[in-house]
Amino acid sequence: NRQILLASRPQGEPTGDNFKLVETAVPALADGQVLVRNHFLSLDPYMRGRMNEGKSYAAPQPLNEVMIGGTAGEVVESKNPHFKAGDKVVGMGGWQEYQLVDASQRGVLQKVDTTHIPLSAYLGAVGMPGVTAWYGLIKIINPKAGETIVVSAASGAVGGAVGQLAKTRGARAVGIAGGADKCRYLVEELGFDACIDYKEHKDLKSLSAALKAACPNGIDGYFENVGGMILDAVLLRANAFSRVAMCGMISGYNGEPIPMTYPQMILTNRMKVEGFIVSEHMEVWPEALKELGTLVATGKLKYRESVAQGLAAAPEAFLGLLKGRNFGKQLVKLI
Ligand code: NDP
Repeated sequence: NRQILLASRPQGEPTGDNFKLVETAVPALADGQVLVRNHFLSLDPYMRGRMNEGKSYAAPQPLNEVMIGGTAGEVVESKNPHFKAGDKVVGMGGWQEYQLVDASQRGVLQKVDTTHIPLSAYLGAVGMPGVTAWYGLIKIINPKAGETIVVSAASGAVGGAVGQLAKTRGARAVGIAGGADKCRYLVEELGFDACIDYKEHKDLKSLSAALKAACPNGIDGYFENVGGMILDAVLLRANAFSRVAMCGMISGYNGEPIPMTYPQMILTNRMKVEGFIVSEHMEVWPEALKELGTLVATGKLKYRESVAQGLAAAPEAFLGLLKGRNFGKQLVKLI
C-alpha cells in the first residue's frame, strides 16, 4: 500500500519536499472493518491550510501521517454487514492506495450509485465542491431571476457549479478565471453569460472596468474564492443590498497578504457578507446532493476534470492546483 505522508511544513509556497512517499503492507481486516481500494483521490485547496501548524477552523495535518483527503473507490474485502466487495464508496481515505475503514461508525464510508453518475463526480460536482457551490449560492446569495452573479476561480470544481446553478435560478452568471481557454470554456460549454480573464488586468482600475462592461446592471451576488484585487474590483461594482458568500481566498493560502482596499463599500452598498465552511452544514447535504446528482445525471450540470496519473503524481498536481494549472476538478487516478 503506497502512501504519501506530510514530511515537513511549508514556509510559504509548498514544494515536493514537504511530502514523502512510503510503502506499507496492506492491513488485515478486523470485525466491522472494510478494505477499500481507492480509485480516485481528490485534491483540494483546503489541504494547503492543513499543512500549517497554526490554529484554523480545522486541526492541522499531523507530520509523518498520511495526508488527509477525500477518496472514491471500491470495497475489496468486508467484515462489515453493510458493505460487500464491489460496492462503490466515497470517504476520507487520504493520499494512499488502500484504506482500512471502521465502517461501524456512521457516515465514514458512503455507498454511491454509479449507474448514471461516474464515480469521480462524487468528489466534484456531486460531492463536497458541488455542495459548497450549492450552499454559498443558494443559502447565502439566494439569487433571483434577472440578477447578476459573479464567481471567481470560476473554471474550478466549485466555481463551475456556482455559475451553472445560478443559471438554473434564472440569474446572469459572470465568471472570473485565469486565461482565455478557461474563459472560453465557461461561456461556450458551461453557458456562463460572460467571463473575465483576470490575468489580462494588472491593476484594479482595469479589472473594475472589465467588470463594469460584463455586468452592466451591477453585481447582486458574489461567490468569493480568491480574495485580494478581485474582491476589491467586485466591491466597487456591487449593487445596494448585494450578497457575498465568502468561500475561499486562495490568493492568500501561501501566506501572501490579501489587503482589502475598499471595505467601506460594504457599508455604502448595505451588503451582506457571510463566510461558511461546508462541512458545518451537513443538514443541507441531502437536498444539495439530490439536485446536483439530478443535474449531472441529466447532463444539465457539466464539469471538467484534471486527472493526474498514479499516487506519486499527487504532490505535483497539488502544487499545480494552487497555481491554477488545473482546469476543473483536480483528481489523482490511482488505478
Ligand atoms: P479550483 O478547482 O477552483 O482550483 C483552484 C483555482 O484557484 C485554480 O485553478 C486557479 O484558477 C485559482 N487560483 C489559484 N491561485 C490563484 C490566485 N493567486 N489568484 C486567483 N486565482 C487563483 O478549486 P476548488 O473549486 O476546489 O476551490 C475553490 C475555492 O473554494 C477555494 O478558495 C477553496 O478554498 C474554496 N472552498 C471552500 C470551501 C468551504 O467550505 N468554505 C469548501 C471547498 C472549497 P485560475 O486559473 O482561474 O486562476
